[in-house]
Amino acid sequence: MFISIHDNLYIGLYCAILAFIFGAVFGSFLNCASWRIAHGESFLHGRSHCTVCGHILSAPDLVPIFSWLFLGGKCRYCKAKISARYMLTELFFAVVSVASLLRWDLSVEYLRNMVFACCLFCLSLVDLESFEIPNGCLIISAAAWLAALPFAGMGKMAILAHLLTGVGYGAIMLGLTLLFDKILGKETMGGGDIKLFAVTGLYLGAAASLFALLFSCILGLLMGAVRNRNQKGAPIPFGPSIALASYVMLLYGERLVNWYLGLL
Ligand SMILES: [Zn+2]
Repeated sequence: MFISIHDNLYIGLYCAILAFIFGAVFGSFLNCASWRIAHGESFLHGRSHCTVCGHILSAPDLVPIFSWLFLGGKCRYCKAKISARYMLTELFFAVVSVASLLRWDLSVEYLRNMVFACCLFCLSLVDLESFEIPNGCLIISAAAWLAALPFAGMGKMAILAHLLTGVGYGAIMLGLTLLFDKILGKETMGGGDIKLFAVTGLYLGAAASLFALLFSCILGLLMGAVRNRNQKGAPIPFGPSIALASYVMLLYGERLVNWYLGLL
């Protein structure tokens, strides 16, 4: 039988707490996995270790969010400072998980979109660290979209529209990138960003994709402004902006698109 988080307050609260814990645990795992991908280590083998002293971390050091808080942001063994980035990103992903549950309830769509969120989160962290978007994240995202199709309740025309958006969006971004590369005489956008646009097109469809593009450009410019103040002329990874804008549009875009179409 289908259980909904809206059935009763206690079930809703219980599911929201579980979603928060799962989000924090996955956030922690993906933080570690993305660090290893960016540094060329295998993320399936080897145990978590302090990046400064190399000490193997034990269970109490690995509780998401809380370990960082209780240890005061320091390694238990060598007292080296641990960046708040880990704790903040775990917290962020826990919030994403709860927001997704509230939006899609306990459904295949929730599962599918959490797989997508995990991929977006991981590729953003890798892109921030090494300016690369791992193909694995894009392939898993596209596969999850395809696998969930029988349960998505989409008509044939809607499926076709989303597929065409993915392909068309990728092709248009590729064309624009080649054009701007030629005009500006330097690389404007990486191949990974273009492929990421194509995958987000699959999930969003045409109208929401346009908003996502607009928002990701605004986010990218903001990130560029912040980075320019700290390090002038440093390159800016675009992946995190595309990922965040796309997921926000997936969460709340339907209302925005409907409102906009209502204006026309
Ligand atoms: Zn240490």
